[in-house]
Amino acid sequence: MPEAITLVAVTKTFPARDVRLLTELGIRDVGENRDQEAAPKADDCADLGVRWHFVGQLQTNKVRSVAQYAWCVQSIDRVKLVHALSRATSRRADDHQPGLRCLAQVQLDDDYDARRGGARPAELRAVADAVAEAPGLELAGVMAVAPVDVDPRPRFEWLRSLADQVRVDHPQARWLSAGMTHDLEAAIEFGATHVRIGRALLGERPPLR
Ligand SMILES: *Cc1c(COP(=O)(O)O)cnc(C)c1O
Repeated sequence: MPEAITLVAVTKTFPARDVRLLTELGIRDVGENRDQEAAPKADDCADLGVRWHFVGQLQTNKVRSVAQYAWCVQSIDRVKLVHALSRATSRRADDHQPGLRCLAQVQLDDDYDARRGGARPAELRAVADAVAEAPGLELAGVMAVAPVDVDPRPRFEWLRSLADQVRVDHPQARWLSAGMTHDLEAAIEFGATHVRIGRALLGERPPLR
């Protein structure tokens, strides 16, 4: 098991004042999945020193906005997105700042579903390689969302082996972001370094619009 596990509080659908409350409780890492919601929230919370993690499916036309506030982009699932994000962060690279942390996201479904995000397992290493080579970006590790309504343990075991393969070429990519409210114990059992928790901290969300 990793020495410490980072709790990323996922605040989607909840207002900026809840982010503020969470930081008063000691939370530093906050996750959001839609730029339209995250950008104004990050703006409202600019004084809090929050480390914003972007965890949702990311369209290339949003990368410029996300690059403004994200401390980590966890949902990198295709090479085209890597290139767009790298261009959007090139100014940061010129300033000799550390690159934007990125996680390569892999999908663990039985049948690949493009609507759910995440690279196909066979493409994960190519995505990770692209991040590692991209100016302005740093490959920090791997992320996945386990499919719903199945035993998460075999999925997280699979995820761990995929992450191990990525680390053969990229030993610095040590983060494993896995585990949400309903499967966090299983994720930790299989080596999660970051768990992304919404409902267990903030309560149920209204149904998706
Ligand atoms: C919403 C979300 C979470 C948090 O899910 P909970 O069930 O509320 O804990 C974690 N990861 C991603 C990618 C999400 O979209």
